[in-house]
Amino acid sequence: MTQSWDVIVIGGGHAGCEAAAASARFGARTLLLTHKLETIGEMSCNPAIGGLGKGHLVREIDALDGLMGRMADKAGIQFRMLNRSKGPAVRGPRAQIDRKLYREAMQAELAATANLEIIAEAVEDLIVEADMVAGVIGGSGSEYRAPKVVLTTGTFLKGVIHLGEQRIPAGRVGDAPAIGLSDRLYSLGLDLGRLKTGTPARLDGSTIAWDRLEMQAADAEPIPFSFLNDRIDVPQIRCGITWTTEETHRIIAERLTESAVYGGRIEGRGPRYCPSIEDKVVRFADKTAHQIFLEPEGLDDDTVYPNGISTSVSEETQLLFLRTIPGLEAVEVRRYGYAIEYDYVDPRELFPTLEVKRLPGLYLAGQINGTTGYEEAGAQGLMAGMNAARAASGGEAATFARDEAYIGVLIDDLVTRGVTEPYRMFTSRAEFRLLLRADNADQRLTQRGIDLGIVGSIRAGVFHVKQRALDEARAQARSWSL
Ligand code: FAD
Repeated sequence: MTQSWDVIVIGGGHAGCEAAAASARFGARTLLLTHKLETIGEMSCNPAIGGLGKGHLVREIDALDGLMGRMADKAGIQFRMLNRSKGPAVRGPRAQIDRKLYREAMQAELAATANLEIIAEAVEDLIVEADMVAGVIGGSGSEYRAPKVVLTTGTFLKGVIHLGEQRIPAGRVGDAPAIGLSDRLYSLGLDLGRLKTGTPARLDGSTIAWDRLEMQAADAEPIPFSFLNDRIDVPQIRCGITWTTEETHRIIAERLTESAVYGGRIEGRGPRYCPSIEDKVVRFADKTAHQIFLEPEGLDDDTVYPNGISTSVSEETQLLFLRTIPGLEAVEVRRYGYAIEYDYVDPRELFPTLEVKRLPGLYLAGQINGTTGYEEAGAQGLMAGMNAARAASGGEAATFARDEAYIGVLIDDLVTRGVTEPYRMFTSRAEFRLLLRADNADQRLTQRGIDLGIVGSIRAGVFHVKQRALDEARAQARSWSL
């Protein structure tokens, strides 16, 4: 059976959701093909959105009428403005997220998006005709045709999970890896490499001694991510703070070779700014304690994400070291941590539009380009989806410069410099950061988004009202004198 669309997006993660929605908002007939409908919008690791540099990206996605900010506002259970004591340019909006609420909000949003069809099927291969992409082939053998394809397969390309001595082929826990697509990218002659990332164990919150822990509350007045929202209605929770101990470090140091990296079983490099607890013990050997945030994963889910101790040592060692941490002496584990190694494509293979130089019509976005993080993935997804849709209708390509947007900084860094480790955004990467504040993303980008055809009428209306008010205030300020 063969059907055709203008744009096909592969993958329902953070890049894929934004790509599919941007393409559909532009008016392109869009198909989203992903493994499972129920994992659309899944947060593979940390249940949080935003942060330093990353919060800027969320605001920029929102200014261009993307989804991430609005979904986070529906699912955020602890909003905090980071760097509040510093200047406005480096303040970073962040929210801890209820995983289930976020997934549900994203799935409902996409289901209600005009011009977008969603099918659950693994994609096995690309259709290439006359040296251009012409569609994809699903696991069932079905052909889906489109002149533009956006690939957003995250950590799934030849993904391998490492847990102690175990090596399990997987895209993330519970999901099969993508092998055929990786083979196809190699056969196109693209430069691919291996990277790795990791995640901590998930803890049973009812076995944590919360009453002995320092607790951190949300901001008294949560500030929404989206320029369309002026308040947050989701109840706000507190999270716990604890620290590793010298005993924790001793156990890890003694059993270091169990870790995939230190046992020599992983060749790919991990995120330097999000190190595993093994890395921290080795690289910062003089430190006697590392901070851990104990973050509940949802309002009606007492699973806890211990932020700061991702690991790939064996299950036995994980339990042993966890129980040396104050408050976790009797903790039970719901799911053990692991590291994952996967293929990525050298992003210097891409034009700034995120189209692959060697295969016209194919766009790549997200972790497949060597980045890490939901926000970096979402930003690339929006740009790839928009450019694919514009190109499908004969429109001109669109990019942002480094002095216009963090999105411009992100993509320029990737396509001109490549990556040697998973790339994450920081305010220090933006040389024009005094101009690129999170709070002025709409002033910088929404009119561009309207002109590019990816901002809907509701946002355009809200933007114009705000713009008029700002213009009036400026005119008044100029007319007054003392
Ligand atoms: P994903 O969110 O992974 O989405 C990929 C999507 O593609 C999925 O929906 C999948 O089902 C679909 N898919 C894949 N292959 C196919 C196929 N062949 N056919 C159809 N559909 C397919 N980020 C951090 O910032 N810090 C961290 O500490 C961190 N730790 C992580 C730990 C682990 C174990 C993992 C797995 C990820 C971690 N991440 C971390 C990364 C974060 O999850 C990603 O950066 C982000 O999810 C990337 O978004 P994406 O859209 O590129 O890919």
